[in-house]
Amino acid sequence: MSERFLITGGAGFIGSHLCELLISQGKQVVAIDDLSTGRAANIQHLLPLPSFQFVRETILNAQVLDRLASQADTIVHLAAAVGVKLIVEDPVHTINTNILGTEAVLTTANRYACKVLIASTSEVYGKSTRAPFSEEDDCLIGPTTHSRWAYAVSKQVDEFLGLAYQRQFDLPVVVMRFFNTVGPRQTGRYGMVVPRFVRQALSGAALTVYGDGSQSRCFADVADVIAAVASLAERPAAVGQVFNIGSTEEITIRGLAERIIALTGSRSPIEYVPYDKAYAPGFEDMHRRVPALQKIVALTGYQPRCTLDETLQRVIAYEKERLAASGD
Ligand code: UDP
Repeated sequence: MSERFLITGGAGFIGSHLCELLISQGKQVVAIDDLSTGRAANIQHLLPLPSFQFVRETILNAQVLDRLASQADTIVHLAAAVGVKLIVEDPVHTINTNILGTEAVLTTANRYACKVLIASTSEVYGKSTRAPFSEEDDCLIGPTTHSRWAYAVSKQVDEFLGLAYQRQFDLPVVVMRFFNTVGPRQTGRYGMVVPRFVRQALSGAALTVYGDGSQSRCFADVADVIAAVASLAERPAAVGQVFNIGSTEEITIRGLAERIIALTGSRSPIEYVPYDKAYAPGFEDMHRRVPALQKIVALTGYQPRCTLDETLQRVIAYEKERLAASGD
């Protein structure tokens, strides 16, 4: 019988791409999503497939989660509150969703000995300036008075909990730290910079660069990221370990804005917005964020294949299509 996957947050940006990949590899896939940030449109095309099932429900529904876990071999836990804007605006929801959701997934998985891959984030490294970040590095988290750090800490608790289940109950758990994943279907609603800039450029609006734009990120294509997830799911040696997943192609946010303006042929200007105005007073951004990838490369041979320009071209094509379909 083919392997059965349960994807929490399966109608989200990364989740929907992962469902597609696993189905193409011959797996049985169930996606659970409450559509709070995920979208039915992301998985609509998968619904007719016999190897795919969608359940619209929160992972906090213990009865439903129990039934789905009892029928799964592997759970990829992607359901979470993500996006810096969402986190700053709704910290209670972020903390509750991330911690209670992961706790629910782990207790349920433990009943059926499912393998669990937990999505974490590069945010856990906090404001450490020692880039590139390695999995064993210290994390430097800001004060509790700044909501931004609630996301990093909630994900750290998820990581601790997952690794504790592995050590104490021998549950096969793998932790994945994603670094700025981008691609078609990502929404800009919760602050993510690439879809925001692309939409601004296509509509002729100013590209809103926060701060002076000298901060940098490494954007990884979702296709590369999901390939890494699928590959980690297959490797027993990944169990009990933490892995960075991302790209090492670094670009400043100002450089990104210029690149997107050039690739879209837009006449949009760049507008510099102070952090206080963009988020909240006292907001702290990370200046640089680069992953060390030696660990995942050594285990899986992972090599990001897509260049940033290719990824941006695909996001631009997707957003153009979306605009055309909505008649905007
Ligand atoms: N950013 C920006 N303009 C926007 C949205 C984000 O300049 O409209 C910046 C943000 O301050 C950060 C970077 O882009 O320095 C990446 O932001 P994103 O929310 O995509 O991911 P983060 O790395 O903050 O998790």
